[in-house]
Amino acid sequence: MQRKLNEIPSQHRFRALPSVFYSNVQPEPLDQPELVIASSNCAELLGINPNSLSDTSSLRTLAGQTVPEDWQPLAMKYFGHQFGYLNPDLGDGRGLLMAEIDTPSGDVMELHLKGAGQTPYSRQGDGRAVLRSSIREFLCSEAMHALGIPSSRALCVVNSATPVYREQVETGASLMRVTRSHIRFGHFEFAYHSGDPAMLYKLSDYVCEHYFPCIFQNAPHGSEANKRQNADLFELIAQNTASLIAKWQCAGFAHGVMNTDNMSMLGETFDYGPFGFIDAFDPGYICNHSDHQGRYAFDRQPAIAHWNLSVLAHALSPILENETLQQGLQAFSERFNDSFITGMQHKLGLQNHQEEDPAFIFNTLNLLSKNRLDYSWFYRQLSEHEVSKVALEPIRERCLDIKGFDEWLSLYQERLGLEEKGEAARKALMLASNPKFILRNHLAQEAIADAEKGNYETVKRLHEVLRKPFEEQPEYEAYAALPPDWAQDIEISCSS
Ligand code: AMP
Ligand code: MG
Repeated sequence: MQRKLNEIPSQHRFRALPSVFYSNVQPEPLDQPELVIASSNCAELLGINPNSLSDTSSLRTLAGQTVPEDWQPLAMKYFGHQFGYLNPDLGDGRGLLMAEIDTPSGDVMELHLKGAGQTPYSRQGDGRAVLRSSIREFLCSEAMHALGIPSSRALCVVNSATPVYREQVETGASLMRVTRSHIRFGHFEFAYHSGDPAMLYKLSDYVCEHYFPCIFQNAPHGSEANKRQNADLFELIAQNTASLIAKWQCAGFAHGVMNTDNMSMLGETFDYGPFGFIDAFDPGYICNHSDHQGRYAFDRQPAIAHWNLSVLAHALSPILENETLQQGLQAFSERFNDSFITGMQHKLGLQNHQEEDPAFIFNTLNLLSKNRLDYSWFYRQLSEHEVSKVALEPIRERCLDIKGFDEWLSLYQERLGLEEKGEAARKALMLASNPKFILRNHLAQEAIADAEKGNYETVKRLHEVLRKPFEEQPEYEAYAALPPDWAQDIEISCSS
């Protein structure tokens, strides 16, 4: 299938929910749009010809200048806990659900135009997104997908001549975000606070019918079958969230703003803001310059996800018993622990589970933080080389505590001795578990700086490199290098 974006018909499934869940809103046009970058991978998923995205008709749609005939844009209403406090005034403040389209694989995908202008939920905001934050979301969504980490996707970024005022004047951009569903934990909080359990029942039914059909019961609200469905739903959301956070922790990824309105009920990485991949390992890494308390520090992510799930549990309490909700929360902890340990074992090339492995994993993380070793670089070095003092000299010489490294190395050699499969299997597993190329902050900054000057080649090249993060790409070796010193001074805030 090779369609043009603006020729694809839309379904209107979300409108089956009560109308309090959305407002009809038309996009506000951006002036003189131009295509910055497109993901051919995402276009293929949607059955869109990527080359057609720069056609005038597609650009007009992407800039909110025209709306294809049967698309009926809407802004979703939701609540959310932001930095621990309930905010009832949330909703799509600068993005619109433009269309729900059938894809060649049979899925239905939502197209959400971020930066499409004001909505009833914009509060003081202008409804716009700037070029730098749109590029960051584009690059990271597609990079996460390539890393095998569930994420919303990005079709393309468009820049415009419309001025947008932040700390300084910038240009308005738009990002076409693609995912199966934009329903967040905050949607359930909104339904809960309506005070009408029917709203919760309808939302749960909607979510199960479309996104978790294997548990959908189509049963009367409050019936045993319906209770089972909703219990299963909470447990699945908890488990999917746990698997996701385990992947973040293994990859050294910090989301930065894990408010409940930024938590997808599909368990996908969602709503990219001041995220970051850790360079020199620091478990307390805070990627969001505005997060003064470190609420969303890297090592707090599992506990925060659990806290967010307890908020979701509270929202579901009118339709589910306490005990069931407790079981769901327990399922989070179990799944997180299992997935994290397995993920880290793979990073270390360990397939044969040993009781001491969790302790060895924490020992390794300690080595990294004590010596401020670069997180991704360390594991990739380990994957590429033989496990000996000589072969691992590049790591060893970067350690402040050489004796500590030698002790760790002996333990690692001993542990590898317990593996049944040999060196080739270790290498293969590790090379597939430890990316060579990640979206480091400084790489994103360089691409953004060039894009802001009108040169989109740097961002395109970076996107290309990040599509194959585990493969050797000799021509792009520089992208795998350790970050320059100035990278430490990069400050990313919520301003976007
Ligand atoms: P975020 O921090 O991007 O997750 O946004 C939190 C809330 O603020 C959401 O309801 C957004 O839609 C809204 N928001 C963020 N930026 C803007 C903006 N520039 N204009 C209007 N609403 C915004
Ligand atoms: Mg958000």
